[in-house]
Amino acid sequence: MQATTQLLHSIPVDAQTGAIAVPIYQTSTFVQEAPGVNKGYDYSRTNNPTRQELEKIVAKLEGGTVAAAFASGLAAIDAVIKLLESGDEIVAVDDIYGGAYRLFEKVYKKFGINVTYVDTTDLGAINRAITAKTRLIWIESPTNPTLKVSDIQAIAAIADRYKILLAVDNTFASPALQQPLLHGADIVVHSATKYIGGHSDVIAGLVITKNEDLGRQVKFYQNACGAVLGPFDSFLLIRGLETLHLRIGQHCRNAAIIAQYLQHHPLVDKVYYPGLASHPNHAVACKQQKDFGGVVSFSLKNDTEAAAIGLVTNTALFHLAESLGGVKSLVSHPASMTHKSIETEKRKAAGVADSLVRLSVGLEDVQDLINDLETALAISTALNKEEKSLSKP
Ligand SMILES: *Cc1c(COP(=O)(O)O)cnc(C)c1O
Repeated sequence: MQATTQLLHSIPVDAQTGAIAVPIYQTSTFVQEAPGVNKGYDYSRTNNPTRQELEKIVAKLEGGTVAAAFASGLAAIDAVIKLLESGDEIVAVDDIYGGAYRLFEKVYKKFGINVTYVDTTDLGAINRAITAKTRLIWIESPTNPTLKVSDIQAIAAIADRYKILLAVDNTFASPALQQPLLHGADIVVHSATKYIGGHSDVIAGLVITKNEDLGRQVKFYQNACGAVLGPFDSFLLIRGLETLHLRIGQHCRNAAIIAQYLQHHPLVDKVYYPGLASHPNHAVACKQQKDFGGVVSFSLKNDTEAAAIGLVTNTALFHLAESLGGVKSLVSHPASMTHKSIETEKRKAAGVADSLVRLSVGLEDVQDLINDLETALAISTALNKEEKSLSKP
């Protein structure tokens, strides 16, 4: 059976009523027949039927055993780091999501958990960073915003050798394109806010574990710390999952065409898209991903912030906003938005040029999107020429 059929039919019909949609159990508590005698639910922080259905569907979709749904992607990451103890170390991808970096450096560091950041596309660098205290390797693949791809299977072999855990933030690929647990990872994390929700209308996170024991531990922290996903938001994720494969397929087709268009554009310098043969990790992406995703980044030959801002403020279909993975296309300028707090030299070394622009390619007609980019590129060029001639003495 194909993945999309499997997914749709893992969403159950309600046994009690025959409802074809998963009911929203908007309740905080459950009436008990006698103290401790209940129907499997006692309090919605601990367990809620709508959230439980979502967790079952997602565990299956990622090829794991246990899933836990959280109030945000960061709450999901937080629950994984709580598996560690003071004195433990993490080796993490250097191109890490900014919120994860803040969580590691501003929260967990003060509790004695230290993180070493390395380029995880370089297996030697991972090996060199591991110490006797390392307990977790943390990667994202592809990364934001330059779409670096790390070899999950090879990194899982390193983690195995040192008897440490491998966690993969699978947000950019989504389970429709990549199932890290099947490549040997122990834990998968999602910001379900992005492709899984898919409609830019919910903040949510997921943790999926390969084995039962790790899953039990994550579930313990989910209940003990309490950052759970509510019943209505759980319903929204189930609804989003119903069209996941359909949406991702179209996101990928549109993004591939736009990446090709940009690659041949005279005003564009570099294009970052794992589906391009010119991408340095193209071969690894082909090995572990079914397709290359909906995010495309590019820099301009006129590598100035002004040129990029001229572009991102003059698109009509690409809305200027942070986030990704929704049906509507978004555009952002990492140097002045998501990566603003990073020092200029460090930012540039990470490949985030002054003119870098990131697209979350949506589900609009691709020719309309290309026309929109063409117009915005022309306006930005005209504006910047004008400014240059005005500033001449
Ligand atoms: C957005 C994002 C997160 C954080 O998720 P929230 O739902 O915003 O808390 C984590 N990792 C990646 C890769 C993201 O893009």
